[in-house]
Amino acid sequence: MSPTTVEGATDLSPAFLDEIRRIVGVANLKEGQAIANLDYGVTAGNFGATAVVLPASANEIAAIVRCGVAHRVPIIAQGGRTGLVGGGLSSPGQIVLSTSRLNRIVQLSPIERVAVVEAGVTLQSLQAATLEHRLEPGIDLPSRGSATIGGMVSTNAGGISAFRYGVMRHRVLGMEVVMPDGSIYSDLTRVVKNSAGYDLKHLFIGAEGTLGIVTRIALKLEPLPAATATALFGLPSVAAALDVTNLGLSVQYGHLRAAEAIWNSYFRVTAGEHHWSANDYDANHPINLLLSLGGSDEEQLQVELARIYEIVAEKYPSISAVVATSQAQEAELWRLREDTDLIYRKHAAAPSYDVSVPLSEIEGYLRRCVCELRCIDPQLDPYLFGHLADGNLHIVLNASGADMTPEKTAAVETVLYRDLAAIGGSFSAEHGIGSKRVHSLRETADPVKFALMKKIRAGVDAACTLNPGKVTG
Ligand SMILES: Cc1cc2nc3c(=O)[nH]c(=O)nc-3n(C[C@H](O)[C@H](O)[C@H](O)COP(=O)(O)OP(=O)(O)OC[C@H]3O[C@@H](n4cnc5c(N)ncnc54)[C@H](O)[C@@H]3O)c2cc1C
Repeated sequence: MSPTTVEGATDLSPAFLDEIRRIVGVANLKEGQAIANLDYGVTAGNFGATAVVLPASANEIAAIVRCGVAHRVPIIAQGGRTGLVGGGLSSPGQIVLSTSRLNRIVQLSPIERVAVVEAGVTLQSLQAATLEHRLEPGIDLPSRGSATIGGMVSTNAGGISAFRYGVMRHRVLGMEVVMPDGSIYSDLTRVVKNSAGYDLKHLFIGAEGTLGIVTRIALKLEPLPAATATALFGLPSVAAALDVTNLGLSVQYGHLRAAEAIWNSYFRVTAGEHHWSANDYDANHPINLLLSLGGSDEEQLQVELARIYEIVAEKYPSISAVVATSQAQEAELWRLREDTDLIYRKHAAAPSYDVSVPLSEIEGYLRRCVCELRCIDPQLDPYLFGHLADGNLHIVLNASGADMTPEKTAAVETVLYRDLAAIGGSFSAEHGIGSKRVHSLRETADPVKFALMKKIRAGVDAACTLNPGKVTG
């Protein structure tokens, strides 16, 4: 797509900025030092733009978009800025549109098990509000404190419960979106069944701010179990971890809430840094599996975990397991999985990958990748963890970004992505494409799909006002 925006422009005209101030008020347009006072999120590049605007309604956003079109100023939507693929990166001559003031839970119906929220509501605040009704959003991410529902829709976020409740695409019932021409698409349906023509909300889910700016979302909610029980299993292989997962899926009491895998190299880092150990738990197993069950009675759930242990120990006698007996212990076990920041403190800007692999292929895929990565550089020993029940693996190199030459990066991507399409997996499981993975999408996507994506984008946003350079490039 050839954007008709003022390419290379590094400044925004006074006329444009005056118009934006008239729309949102002087206090809600940030420039210069005022931007530096905001939190840029996972990367400072999010605030490369000349200005940040903080609208409070869909109508204000529509007016900003019309102004952007008229002045040919690209608009980059941002929610919690936790995106990991550079979807929110911005540059001089552009304006960032933050949804932080669209932070109201508009409706929460325990009868319908539906919430209608503004795009800037964080996952954690929705979780807190639904908790009062013993409900949950059915999706959970470690970045819950900052990630917004609008951002999660836009990246089609997945997370811990995707194997049970689906990814964001399966949680959304309806949506309101400001289109690239400033019109407002409104389809805030609150029902599961709706076959009234094309289901256009799916265009915007996973579009990463390139096809419209999401302003409101109607989301399905799920019952929150009264009790949970969590165990960590130390296991000899992926096959053993999948056995445990399957036993978790077929428990006689309660249901499986999470099956999170932590391979040894990453486990050593988190267990080491947090000084975690447990009696009789051997920290040297090739893979550790965090298994969480939900139900109404904690003791019965713990009985189920003990039963799983007995069955698995018969097949794999060398296993270890520890069951959390308090909420504090449960939180400690989760920290072993979720504190991925520790990796980036050891290796600044370590290259990370987010792939989906069919469950029966995981063992072979990882064996091949680890071996071929060592051929590129004998020092490479990636940190591995992921949402095992749905096959989503996170692979982070034990190398800082500065150590990676373009040739080495390309070689690593070839190793990790080469066979994924052929085995029925995906090179981008839940983080999206952003700017970081545009070249991989271009190289690996079905050409008909990629051409169709570009055609849709050109049809919806011919001037390429929204998030230029992202997703389709
Ligand atoms: C520690 C950590 C753990 C994480 N774990 C997970 C995980 O388990 N699963 C997972 O899926 N992701 C995970 N992520 C990634 C990230 O949290 C998700 O991608 C999240 O959905 C981004 O939400 P956000 O509000 O921060 O969006 P942002 O980062 O602000 O934006 C992301 C993209 O969406 C666009 N966007 C944002 N808001 C809107 C809007 N209202 N309308 C249109 N476009 C918009 C932006 O332009 C950008 O392209 C993790 C990130 C971190 C830092």
